[in-house]
Amino acid sequence: MNVNDSLDLPTLTTVLAGVCDSMVASIDDFTHADQALGDGDHGLAISRGFRAAREAITSQPRTDAGDLLGAMGLALLNSMGGASGAIYGTFFRQGGRAVVGHQRFDTGTLATFLEEGLAGVRTRGKAKVGDKTIVDAMEPATLAARASTTLTLPEALVAVANAASAGLESTRAMRATLGRARALGDRSIGHVDPGALSFTFMLTELSRLVGEASQP
Ligand code: ADP
Ligand code: MG
Repeated sequence: MNVNDSLDLPTLTTVLAGVCDSMVASIDDFTHADQALGDGDHGLAISRGFRAAREAITSQPRTDAGDLLGAMGLALLNSMGGASGAIYGTFFRQGGRAVVGHQRFDTGTLATFLEEGLAGVRTRGKAKVGDKTIVDAMEPATLAARASTTLTLPEALVAVANAASAGLESTRAMRATLGRARALGDRSIGHVDPGALSFTFMLTELSRLVGEASQP
């Protein structure tokens, strides 16, 4: 297997630690998005959560991709708080559980992780596409991952990040029907959903960093 097909555990750990760093560094973007639609705490929640997630995966060796992603989920759940803490924590924990035993991270692992993570988020938060939440980015990303399993991992991640971006952009015209933004009614129209923004950024950074790790 070459690095374009799958990542070994040390490389996956390095890449995910880099994703955590990018999330922490982008606190202001998430704060501003949540100031327009909610209470403005999404940036703080993300930076708290991904700092803890980075610590969880770099402080001790993990046995497989599921252990690694699940450890991130537990750290997110225990540190973020708010609606997004429950959503991100559930996503990584349930997605991680589905890929326990995967020693390498490939396009199939990616698709299964996203599918099970999304299933957990749906059960937990009851959001559907069109409700103006993280699910509007997560569901198209997941469908793109399943449709891309025969591509190389970097190619699949580009497709996944692009699908999330299109989903994110679609939230701008939506009226929020769940969460804090619901209280704004029609005034929620015209702004992208903060959770969809942070989730799309996370996948974009994952794509970028895997692309870099896969350079010949
Ligand atoms: P809080 O709403 O508690 O202040 P955050 O500001 O950190 O939490 O996160 C808000 C984001 O959480 C929203 O932008 C949305 O994407 C996501 N969210 C809120 N409620 C739900 C839900 N029921 N299902 C899925 N995502 C949700
Ligand atoms: Mg908030």
